[in-house]
Amino acid sequence: MGVYAVTGSASGMGHMVAQKLRDAGHTVIGVDIKQADIVADLSTAEGRRAAADCVLASSRARLDGAVLAAGLGPGPAADRSRLIAQVNYFGVVDLLDAWRPALASATRAKVVVFSSNSTTTTPAVPARTVRAFLADDADKAVRSVKLFGTNASTILYAASKIAVSRWVRREAVKPQWAGAGIRLNALAPGAIMTPLLEEQLSIPKQAKAVRSFPIPIVGFGDAGQLADWALFMLSDAADFLCGSVVFVDGGSDAYFRADDWPRTVPTRRVLHYLKRFSDFSASGPN
Ligand code: NAD
Repeated sequence: MGVYAVTGSASGMGHMVAQKLRDAGHTVIGVDIKQADIVADLSTAEGRRAAADCVLASSRARLDGAVLAAGLGPGPAADRSRLIAQVNYFGVVDLLDAWRPALASATRAKVVVFSSNSTTTTPAVPARTVRAFLADDADKAVRSVKLFGTNASTILYAASKIAVSRWVRREAVKPQWAGAGIRLNALAPGAIMTPLLEEQLSIPKQAKAVRSFPIPIVGFGDAGQLADWALFMLSDAADFLCGSVVFVDGGSDAYFRADDWPRTVPTRRVLHYLKRFSDFSASGPN
């Protein structure tokens, strides 16, 4: 049986993941701002540091896996964009940076980061916002969406999930992750019935947007089913899954972007990466 850290363990999909892992006999260290083994506010650097340290102490610096589900959706509150930036992006990246050695201490550790299908279906997300996240500049990311007015937090939400997905894909293949036996992947749900979605449905403008959003199989997803996907991505069956973003969204991404991916790749780029790979794989885990 393994030891797993789960953020967002108090509610929704994180709660279901924690429950299913415990039911299967694993030890779960839940992290949340409320009702958790480790109560910490992931919207502050101090809270993230405390959460990271407490998990390392509780797990004796050895983790078989981690699920990063803590997050906030778009909303009208004045500081929502700042909270989204801090929790959805830095609440993943900072914790995983701190936990990577503990994950490398297990033999076949797996990590699942909650992304979203808002990554590929939200229009007009500025590339500079995503770049600001990847450059660790939360203030710049928040400033860059101010011009969207009442839609700012919707755009920032999508940008935070694009950035965290790109971070997963960039890091997953590196020697310190793939080479250290850690499988790092992202799960991208569509609209799933949880308190996060309920909050959106309680705000008339957002409810209208959510309800008119195309979902080919019709209806909202189930938190328990998404938790099953996360558990599958934590299992031995996922040994060969690395840097993937798995969409479980009732078909919305395919509806909007059927021909965007897979796409052909220029020969020049393939040759560049082939040349780089020998140096890259030779550098080994650190
Ligand atoms: P949820 O609101 O039910 O759960 C989110 C959890 O994050 C809560 O327990 C909350 O307390 C915790 N959290 C929020 N702010 C925190 C903070 N500052 N510090 C510590 N914990 C904090 O939401 P959910 O729908 O289960 O969402 C789980 C993940 O899935 C999120 O990352 C969300 O963005 C993503 N997601 C959700 C949907 C959806 O439709 N529900 C769709 C796509 C992606």
